[in-house]
Amino acid sequence: MRALLTGCVSAGTVAGVAIYIVLTRLGAAGSYALTLALLAFALFLTPTVAAATYVRMMFRQISELAANARKLANLHGGVLPAEPQKDAVDDLRAALEVLSDLIARQSAAFTEQRIALDQITSALQEGVVAVSPAGRVVFANSQISTMFGTQMPLAGRSILEVVRKQRVTEAIEKALEGNAPEGRIVVTAGHDDRQIEMRVVSVPSSGGLGAVALFVDISDLARLQRIRRDFLDDFSHEVRTPLAGLRSAAETIEGGRLTAEQEEALRQVMLRQLNRIERLVKDLAELNRIESGELVLERRRVDLKSLLADLCHEFRGRTSETAINFSLTGEEVFAVADPVRLQQIFSNLLDNAWKHGGGGEVLIEVTRGGGYAVIRVSDSGEGIRPEEIDRIFNRFYRVDRSRSQAVPGVGLGLSITKHLVLLHQGTIRAFNREGGGATFEVRLPAA
Ligand code: ADP
Repeated sequence: MRALLTGCVSAGTVAGVAIYIVLTRLGAAGSYALTLALLAFALFLTPTVAAATYVRMMFRQISELAANARKLANLHGGVLPAEPQKDAVDDLRAALEVLSDLIARQSAAFTEQRIALDQITSALQEGVVAVSPAGRVVFANSQISTMFGTQMPLAGRSILEVVRKQRVTEAIEKALEGNAPEGRIVVTAGHDDRQIEMRVVSVPSSGGLGAVALFVDISDLARLQRIRRDFLDDFSHEVRTPLAGLRSAAETIEGGRLTAEQEEALRQVMLRQLNRIERLVKDLAELNRIESGELVLERRRVDLKSLLADLCHEFRGRTSETAINFSLTGEEVFAVADPVRLQQIFSNLLDNAWKHGGGGEVLIEVTRGGGYAVIRVSDSGEGIRPEEIDRIFNRFYRVDRSRSQAVPGVGLGLSITKHLVLLHQGTIRAFNREGGGATFEVRLPAA
C-alpha cells in the first residue's frame, strides 16, 4: 500500500511539475500555472488517499477476524503457530484451515458417536424414545418399532403416530409440560398383546422441555410371577389337606377316652398323611432338580423289554391283593438311556394305570418305529376327558374327581415323567382307547 501511495505522490508531482513548466513556457501567468499544477497533483492524490484509507480499514477488519479465528481454533484444541503471521490475510487463511480441519474431525466424531449410540440402544432389550418439545420423535431405537408395531424410520414423526397408545402419549405430553407422571405405566401392545412397562422423564432441550421414555417388556416377568403364584396356590392346597387330617387326628388323640383300636386307627391316619406330605416334598425336590438342569443322566445301552419285564414282576408283587394283571408284549428294542430314570418313568405310568385303571388288566407293549422305541401303557379304567388330556402333564394337575383322598397322589408324577422323557430326547402323549381306558405312549430314540 505504501508503494501505491509513493507511486501516486510521484505521479502527481510529475504531472504537476509538467503542467507548470508547459504553462509557463506558453507564457501563462506564474500563479495561474502553479494553481493548475497543484490541482493536477491533488487530482492524482485524492482517490489514492481514499483507496488507501479504505484498504487500511479492510486490513484492520481482516486482522480482527484472523485474531477471532485463532482464538476459536485455540479454544477447540487447534494447533496454530505461536505468533500471528505478518500478513493478516495469511494469518486468517492459517486460522481458517485449522478451523476447517477441526470441523471435519468433529463431524466425523459426531457420526461415530451417532452410530455407537444406535448400536448400543438397538442391543438393549428396552425401547428408548426421545421426543422434542413439539412432540416429534428425535431418536428411537428399533425396539420401539417392534413393541408398538410401527415401521422404521421413526425419527421426525409425531409421537402420537408412532405409539398410538393413549396412556403412553398422555404421559409423554405431561412430561413435555414438565409434569412427568411418577411410577410405572403398564400397557398392552403389539399383535401378541405383550405387557409393556413405561417410565418417562422431562429433559431440558434447546426449544423448551423434551421428554425421554423407556419401555420394558415385562410379559415374561408377569408370566413367571403368575407361575409362582399358581405354584404357591397349588402347593398350599396340596399340603393343607394332609395337615388338616393330621391336626384332627392329633386333637382327637389329645382329647383322650379312646379305645386302643380307635387310637391305632388314628395313628394310621396320621402316618398316611405324613407319608403324603413326605412324598409331596420329595417329588417337588425331584422336579426342581430336573427343571434346573442339575440332574445328569447316566446313559448306557438298555434292553427296554427286559427292564419292563422286571418292573411288571415288581408290580405284580406289589399289587397281589388287587390281583391286577400286568401283561407285557412286543419286541426287543434297545435305547441309550439312564436305566434308573427309565424305571422311574415307567413306574409312574404303571402306578397310574393301577390307581386309575379300574382294576382291569394293564397292558404294556414295546415296538420299534421310525427310529424310536415306542412303549405304550394301557389300562381299562375311565380314561381321561379330552379337555384334560394336555393338562394332566402340568405340575399339581389332578383331575377333579381324583382330587379326593380316594386315590392317593399329589399330581406331580406325570410332570416328573414328562421332564424325564424330554431329557432323553423323547416324547410322551396320552390318549383314550377305543374300548375304554387310557394309553400313555412314550417314544425314545432307539439304539
Ligand atoms: P398323581 O400323583 O395324582 O397320580 P399324576 O401327575 O401322576 O399325579 O397324574 C395327574 C392326574 O392325571 C391324576 O390325578 C389323574 O387324574 C390323571 N391320570 C393319570 N394317569 C391316569 C390314567 N391312567 N387314567 C386316568 N387318569 C389318569
